[in-house]
Amino acid sequence: MEKSTQNLAITATSTSINGLQKIGLFLGFSGLLVLALSFFNIEALNNSVWLTFSLLSITVGCIVYAKGLYANRPEGISNTGVFFSSLSFRGTVAWLIGIILTAFYVFLYWFPEYLGLGQNGASNTGIVAFFDPLSLFLNGNVASQWFVYGTLYCVAILGLGIKFMYKYRHNKYQLFRTGSVIFFQLGFAFLLPEILAKLNPSDAYYAKDLKNMWPLNYYFFDEWHVNNMLQGGNLGMFMLLSGLALIFIISPILTYFYGKRWYCSWVCGCGGLAETAGDSFRQLSSKKVSAWKFERWLIHLILVFSFVMTVAVIFTFLNNNPEKYLISKNQFIYFIVSFIGVFTFVLYKFKKNDLDTDAKFTIGSLLAIMVLVIVMNFYSGNHNIFFLDSYKLREWYGFAIGSAFSGVIGVGFYPILGNRVWCRFGCPMAAILGLQQRLFSRFRITTNGGQCISCGNCSTYCEMGIDVRSYAQKGENIVRSSCVGCGVCSAVCPRGVLKLENDSEKGRINSNEILLGNDVNLLDLLNTK
Ligand code: SF4
Ligand code: SF4
Repeated sequence: MEKSTQNLAITATSTSINGLQKIGLFLGFSGLLVLALSFFNIEALNNSVWLTFSLLSITVGCIVYAKGLYANRPEGISNTGVFFSSLSFRGTVAWLIGIILTAFYVFLYWFPEYLGLGQNGASNTGIVAFFDPLSLFLNGNVASQWFVYGTLYCVAILGLGIKFMYKYRHNKYQLFRTGSVIFFQLGFAFLLPEILAKLNPSDAYYAKDLKNMWPLNYYFFDEWHVNNMLQGGNLGMFMLLSGLALIFIISPILTYFYGKRWYCSWVCGCGGLAETAGDSFRQLSSKKVSAWKFERWLIHLILVFSFVMTVAVIFTFLNNNPEKYLISKNQFIYFIVSFIGVFTFVLYKFKKNDLDTDAKFTIGSLLAIMVLVIVMNFYSGNHNIFFLDSYKLREWYGFAIGSAFSGVIGVGFYPILGNRVWCRFGCPMAAILGLQQRLFSRFRITTNGGQCISCGNCSTYCEMGIDVRSYAQKGENIVRSSCVGCGVCSAVCPRGVLKLENDSEKGRINSNEILLGNDVNLLDLLNTK
């Protein structure tokens, strides 16, 4: 019998790459090299041919590399070696990528001139100028740093999304939701807004991404934004009404039927990038109880901040221009307070038995918002909210949460902290949808506990840091506010224990108070007897 020279241990990792992977890497790095060279303003490279080459080369490189990596492996998820790889387990490569991404975000938000954005009417240079031809073609204007960012964002979601689809090709749900995030990012977040901007050149700016809803889009209710929509003709009015419908009608209905996954894992751009470009880092999410506690505090503090900041901004412009709007600042405050009050009372009255700690924190946050809004009404002047300038408050939010947290930490730290840091610890939208998912939704992950072999794959690859295994061991449904319904826990389970389902609300929350090994120290228990 022929002697096998192959190490068959499950921990064995292979560092060799095949021909297709080499071609993929060559193409991808060639595209990146051309992008990097664009910083040096090389005249010969500054045209649409090289831009097309660069973007295509990166995308095709990702696809070819994925084909080389996964095509010859059996269907089913192979995560062999993720804890030995420098990229996926906080090695040198991970730190290097983290530093490059973080630096890119810092320049993007605060120093776009170093990316080449023309100042005071000057022409663009560097990488921003490199994207001018595409920007002129799509929206009729030269590129901004946001156009560069949006294009690269789409390339990342498309290229690495197809890689993700190769990896999870045995799982229809993963194929569906990845197709969905690619469609929404390329169509709704990128192409449609650019084309609409070209068709309406005289309109002042307002967000034309139909899926980017408040509070994720934190400037939706800013005076300048509302005014621009009101003065934006039919399209502006459509954006305003569809934005309101999304917040108050569409989102609650879809969350009721499908859980928050309809947004966080099927539609949202942040979720889209996390699921595709961030897939290699999902195992880095902390599963510690302390991280869960920290998550509750931080996400709810940000929820309160975002709510109060929005109310403060609306309050200020109603206060300053009462003649321009249909409602007065007092009516607005009474409406907000009554709405939150009734909502919280109904929740508590009818759902008090289903409130877990996460939901209690959200209810506490709503009460805190109510109190702060009432106090605001008494201690605010024309521009001041609690003795602070309301626009300054909005600026701080934009700086600390909208830029530093969601961008710099949220994406720049993928290789170090995992791919859903922003969604888990910072996104106010996720907190609101999470409350509804816990209390008013048909979504749950069912667990066939008898089949569980406690391998822990599900917990390891849960990007939200949920200890899925502990629920499976008890045969308890997973109805957690933070679950984004990515389905990867179910996809990586070797025993088919976990199933994402939408069904009647009855019996959905079925807490099983079974003591698990981790819950109690048996020696301590014996000693106390
Ligand atoms: S519990 Fe499962 S579906 Fe929910 S976030 Fe974690 S891995 Fe995704
Ligand atoms: S992956 Fe499946 S078998 Fe393994 S611990 Fe989770 S539920 Fe149990």
